Amino acid sequence: MTTEMKPTAGPWEYVKSTYKDNSAHHFVGYNRHGDTVLTVCKLVQPLANASIEANARIIAEAGTVCHETGLTPRQLAEQRQELLEALEAFCEEEPRVASEIDGDVSCPYCGAYLQVDEPHSGDCPWIRGKAAILKARGENAEMAV
Ligand SMILES: [Zn+2]
Repeated sequence: MTTEMKPTAGPWEYVKSTYKDNSAHHFVGYNRHGDTVLTVCKLVQPLANASIEANARIIAEAGTVCHETGLTPRQLAEQRQELLEALEAFCEEEPRVASEIDGDVSCPYCGAYLQVDEPHSGDCPWIRGKAAILKARGENAEMAV
């Protein structure tokens, strides 16, 4: 994000106001003083459109995450893809190191004795990386260790 395009300070909040005719206005704003919300945007809900509230919540979350990370949602998506590809390359092959003493093979991260197919520990970085890849790809993150 360039310095010329600096968004309203954050975090951004979602606020809903319902009126007597049951219409609702959905505000996204910055709560500067704890009680006054400076409006970033306002979405007016037609009576039969329930997705407006979801849209307002997404806008508020995008603004807050932008302030937390210093990145726009697009920049985060691109960074996520880069990290995922790097993690996939890291996790492509099972890590194995041979002992200098007897040549037996084990995992350099968790010490699993792979010579006899001992499973990696649940907190092994390689296993955690593989689980994160499955989760990011929308696949079942449960996997055998
Ligand atoms: Zn391991």
